[in-house]
Amino acid sequence: MGWGIYVHIPFCVRRCPYCDFNTYAGIDYLKQPYVDALIEEIARTGERLGRPEARSVFFGGGTPTTLSGEQLCSILEAVRRGFRLDPGAEISSEANPGTVDAERFRSMRECGFNRLSLGVQSFDDGELRFLGRIHSASEAVDAYHLARRAGFESINLDLMFGLPEQEPESWKAALEKALELSPEHLSLYALTVEEGTPLWRWVRGGEVPPPDEDVSAGMYEYACERLDAAGYAHYEISNWCRRRDGTDFRSRHNLIYWRHERYLGFGAGAHSFDGKKRWWNVPGVREYIDRIAEGASPVESGEVLSERTLMGEAMMLGLRLLEEGVPNDRFAGEFGVDIMTAFGDEVTELVDEGLVRWHGDSLLLTHRAWLVANQVFARFL
Ligand code: SF4
Repeated sequence: MGWGIYVHIPFCVRRCPYCDFNTYAGIDYLKQPYVDALIEEIARTGERLGRPEARSVFFGGGTPTTLSGEQLCSILEAVRRGFRLDPGAEISSEANPGTVDAERFRSMRECGFNRLSLGVQSFDDGELRFLGRIHSASEAVDAYHLARRAGFESINLDLMFGLPEQEPESWKAALEKALELSPEHLSLYALTVEEGTPLWRWVRGGEVPPPDEDVSAGMYEYACERLDAAGYAHYEISNWCRRRDGTDFRSRHNLIYWRHERYLGFGAGAHSFDGKKRWWNVPGVREYIDRIAEGASPVESGEVLSERTLMGEAMMLGLRLLEEGVPNDRFAGEFGVDIMTAFGDEVTELVDEGLVRWHGDSLLLTHRAWLVANQVFARFL
C-alpha cells in the first residue's frame, strides 16, 4: 500500500502564544532555500525507494500559505516526480486565514491541491486576539469563501474550545457560524496549555486562569450533539465529516496515521514511520537546509519500535476512530496475533468498566470513554 506524504512548512507570520509546533517567525529569508531543500529531500527519497506509490499528501506547519502558490506547487511537483501519486489522492494544505488571497488559492487548486484545512480557531475577535491569531473572524469567513470560489470542494475548519473564560454561549455561536458555512469537515480541539509556551507562563504566573476541564467537557458534549443533529459523522474523537452523494469527507491522510500505516515526512523536524521504525529530521530550519546542501542526511535520529510498543500504538490510534475502531483482522494481519491474545486482560477490564465494546469484529470506544480516552489509551502503552 502506498505511503502518506507529509510536508512540513515551518514558517509563521507570528508565533501564537499557545503553540508548541516546530515553527518560526522572522526567518522569511530562508523560505526559498528551504523550498529548494525540500525539493531535493523529496527527490532523493523518491529515488532511493524506487519511486514508490503515494496515497495522500499533506502540507502542514507552521503555515504552508506563508509560501507563494508557485512555491507550494513546485514542492507538490517534486512529490509527483519522486512518487507515483495515486490519481485520486487527497492533496491537502493547511491555510491560515491571515495569509491567503484568491491568486494563491487559484494556483494551488490548479496544480492539484484538492483539500484545504483552514485554521479558523474562533469566530470571536476577542478570542482570536487572546489566541494571538493574525486574522479576524470576518477574514476567516472571507478566506472560506475565497477557497470555495477557487474551486475547493473539500474544506476543513479547525476550531478551538475551552479557552480561559470562554462562555458556553460563545462556543455555541462559533459552532452555528461554522455550520452556516457548511464545510465538509470540522476538527475541534480543546485548548491545551503546553509547557514552555507563553500561555503556560501566563497561566503559571496567574495572569490567565487555566482552562476549566469541566467547562471544556461540556462544550465537547454540546458539539457532539449539535453536529450530530446537523448531519455530521463523528468519525474520530476530535473530527467530524459530511457524507454526501456517496462521498465521504474523512481526512484520508489522517486515516493513515490512525490506522497505523506508513508515512514519510519531509522538512525540518518531520517524522516518518514505516510500520516498524520511526525517524525524524533535525528541527532547525538552517541546519536542515545546510545538511541537504552538503549532501548529508537530514535525519536527526530514529528508533526501532518493539512489537509490544507497536501493538499499543495500533490500539491507541485505532480506538480514536469512533466508528471503525480497531478491527481484529487488521490487528492480526499486522502482528500475527489477535487483540485478545495481545491485550486480553486490558480489554476485559475496559469492557467491564464500560469504556470499550465489541462491535462485530472491531473494538470501539464507548461514548462514555470519549472524554477519558487518554486513560483508556494508557492501558495499552
Ligand atoms: S499559526 Fe499555527 S503553527 Fe503558526 S504559531 Fe500559530 S498555531 Fe502555531
